Amino acid sequence: MVAQVIDGKAFAAKVRAQVADQVAKLKEENGITPGLAVVLVGEDPASQVYVRSKGKMTVEVGMNSYEHKLDVDTSEEDLLALIDKLNNDPAVHGILVQLPLPKHLNEDLVINSIDPAKDVDGFHISNVGLLGTGQKSMVPCTPLGCLMMLRDHHGSLSGMDAVVIGRSNIVGKPMAQLLLGDSCTVTIAHSRTKDLPDVVRRADIVVAAVGRPEMVPGDWIKEGATVIDVGINRIERDGKNKLVGDVDYASAAERAGAITPVPGGVGPMTIACLLANTLTAACRSNGLPEPEGLTA
Ligand code: NDP
Repeated sequence: MVAQVIDGKAFAAKVRAQVADQVAKLKEENGITPGLAVVLVGEDPASQVYVRSKGKMTVEVGMNSYEHKLDVDTSEEDLLALIDKLNNDPAVHGILVQLPLPKHLNEDLVINSIDPAKDVDGFHISNVGLLGTGQKSMVPCTPLGCLMMLRDHHGSLSGMDAVVIGRSNIVGKPMAQLLLGDSCTVTIAHSRTKDLPDVVRRADIVVAAVGRPEMVPGDWIKEGATVIDVGINRIERDGKNKLVGDVDYASAAERAGAITPVPGGVGPMTIACLLANTLTAACRSNGLPEPEGLTA
């Protein structure tokens, strides 16, 4: 079997176009322009790139983008004061604090100081609890993007066996909750899982979120399974820098029914879902119906 490639780049462009349409409607019919505030502390080069591209795409879909760049030695007090100001600013519907933060800042404290209704990353403890209890929440962007691609490919996921490899708070755990919410039978695997190959071989859906280059070989994949590769790993091969996932794409694509490539799979969906979450937050805060197909 040769797998169908799930084109995350094209799908993300479709999601962004949907968001842009809804934003235009919201402006015209309700006079509301969704606004996303991104806070960056310090000058981490990767974070700077992410923040720049988030800002650019926010503007491209017609939303307002507010960038707050703070010195690396900004105090916790000053950062919390800025978040408080953004929490109380009616023009700001979404707040994202770019992680990781410099070591002297308490990440949990900072994230939990964001108004949960504006927490477009879905990391606030209230949103984690709401998701875990199957209630309406802000859903972390990367797992939301994976869910959208799976729903688009399969329609209903009900009754499917899903294995999520990785149990991080930002990907693995929320991914498992979302799959459970769609009535999959979910296994969460991690570094202590016994006989991982056997666990993965049972899965109709495999979501790999490990951070180990090409760790999952094709012979772990059940014939016809859908493989979602969240991993982004930079490696050097044949003297060149290359981006690879957590799945060995070439061998997995020979057995899977469908697979996301790296790059061009899950990655582009993450920013698209950030924009979708900002739109959702703007609708909710104004008592308007949520955009269809853009939430969990
Ligand atoms: P973490 O490092 O927080 O978590 C990795 C998880 O993988 C842990 O739960 C760990 O288990 C598990 N793990 C590690 N080694 C093994 C192993 N040998 N067998 C089974 N499980 C193992 O990573 P993240 O969840 O933050 O990210 C995972 C990957 O996804 C990374 O490559 C990251 O770059 C990428 N990513 C991509 C995004 C995108 O937009 N596409 C967004 C976010 C992340 P244990 O808990 O036991 O240690």
